[in-house]
Amino acid sequence: MKFFARNNNTCEFCKAKLASYEELISHARHEHHRTIVKCSGCGKEFIHEKDRLHHQREEQERKVKNRYR
Ligand SMILES: [Zn+2]
Ligand SMILES: [Zn+2]
Repeated sequence: MKFFARNNNTCEFCKAKLASYEELISHARHEHHRTIVKCSGCGKEFIHEKDRLHHQREEQERKVKNRYR
């Protein structure tokens, strides 16, 4: 049984529900011709530049925390 506790895979442009985040990215790229931005650290893709910046900041904070553990 699969649980979708937090389904973030709904398209914000047309409200279509995608099965995975990867499909959502691909959908936004092909259906809405969005420019997809990539995290330079892990290669994760984002629809919005601000989401990427937020992710990269979190990733950076995680690295800093690990260093002081
Ligand atoms: Zn859509
Ligand atoms: Zn990343």
